[in-house]
Amino acid sequence: MTGAVATRAEFCRMHLTDCPLCQPVSETPLWQDTHCRVILAHETGYPVLCRVIWQAHVREMTDLNASQQAHLMRVVFATERALRTLLQPDKVNLASLGNLVPHLHWHVIPRFRDDRNFPDPIWSVPRRNTTPDAVKTLSTDALCRELGLELTRQPGT
Ligand SMILES: [Zn+2]
Repeated sequence: MTGAVATRAEFCRMHLTDCPLCQPVSETPLWQDTHCRVILAHETGYPVLCRVIWQAHVREMTDLNASQQAHLMRVVFATERALRTLLQPDKVNLASLGNLVPHLHWHVIPRFRDDRNFPDPIWSVPRRNTTPDAVKTLSTDALCRELGLELTRQPGT
């Protein structure tokens, strides 16, 4: 690589081997197909935060074609519906950042008025302490089952 700015191909080559989403160390899979997977992300303080990860190492939504974009969002929306059914959160945050990990993924985050950051983003400075028993949790089995039902109800691309 020459110069300060990497081409897209150089950028992808640089990051494939050390990308934590291409080389996951610890994640709990909930559902997957050849294009994307849904996992529990084990985010501190947010044990039911789900992450929908495009399997290939692409950086932006617009790196996908229209059919791929629709497929990914179908899975993101199914994840949101499953979390709403099981937890009745006060709000669901959908976030696609990828500033630190430039591998396309969506965070699906059920939010509650008493969570430690509400109404701020979960990555902000906490507004309050929460006791462990106040943090909403779910069994992996329940989430897998509900997510599977949602994807069956909404057959897609
Ligand atoms: Zn990656």
